[in-house]
Amino acid sequence: MRIDLHVHSTASDGTQSPTELMAVAVAAGLDVIALTDHDTTTGWAEAQRARPPGLTVVPGVELSCQSTAVEGPPIGVHLLGYLLDPAHPGFMAEAERLRTDRLSRGRRMAEAMADDGLPVSWEQVDRIAAGAPVGRPHLGRALVEAGLVATVTEAFARYLHRSGPYYRPKRSTDIHAGIALIRAAGGVPVLAHGRARLRGRVLDDAVIAACAGTGLAGLEVDHPDHPPADRDQLRALAADLGLLVTGSSDYHGANKLTPIGACVTDPDVYAALVGLSTGTAPYTD
Ligand code: AMP
Ligand code: FE
Ligand code: FE
Ligand code: ZN
Repeated sequence: MRIDLHVHSTASDGTQSPTELMAVAVAAGLDVIALTDHDTTTGWAEAQRARPPGLTVVPGVELSCQSTAVEGPPIGVHLLGYLLDPAHPGFMAEAERLRTDRLSRGRRMAEAMADDGLPVSWEQVDRIAAGAPVGRPHLGRALVEAGLVATVTEAFARYLHRSGPYYRPKRSTDIHAGIALIRAAGGVPVLAHGRARLRGRVLDDAVIAACAGTGLAGLEVDHPDHPPADRDQLRALAADLGLLVTGSSDYHGANKLTPIGACVTDPDVYAALVGLSTGTAPYTD
């Protein structure tokens, strides 16, 4: 069994529709994929309809969270939520608040670039996002369209990174509130790419331990942005804290270099994760 528990579609900042993702997953020899778009569950229905026999789809979400546990500006944290009830009122309200904030922040970033003379506009970014929660990859595609960069990856390196002049922070959900919401909706909360240091500051062990104390169920250990030493350390931490250990690609189609299935999750861990959920069952044969 090959299981990839973190994949993005055009419902957020991936470049392939849920239907296209199914074909990509099958071609890569995957048996299970989780659809985890940023702050939305709108891709779930299409994924359920388009799922081919033999492929299991785990409906999920990647919630934009932050931690203020240590001194300094908030640390951005991505929280994966698997198999939750997408109609849980508290979850729905928070996800909508996050999407609204993404919209205004995306507009402010686009306007800052346009004001600075870059040949991009908010209207263009809005068209590219096509109703999805706006993220920096959509701004990156606008920069590609404008001919300023060849790829979204280059757009991040030159224009969109956190210390760049156009970066604006998002108002994300407190990590403990996010964990509580996913649990309240019957889902299973897993910390996404907790040691992806190139994206900014990361949580230290004490904060992760505090999250385990408030209901975190697992750590995404095998992730393309994690160097081997960090994976070893996170794996040991998960063992100490009694957390599940997952692996996933964080596939974003053409918006990132990583192929689907680049990292995978152990079948026993997957079974344990499904066993913790009371929200929505996996889409399966
Ligand atoms: P945002 O949530 O709008 O701040 O944008 C972050 C998104 O951009 C995440 O989904 C990342 O997967 C993606 N991302 C971050 N760094 C890069 C990069 N260097 N190249 C391409 N995509 C990136
Ligand atoms: Fe993304
Ligand atoms: Fe993420
Ligand atoms: Zn992701």
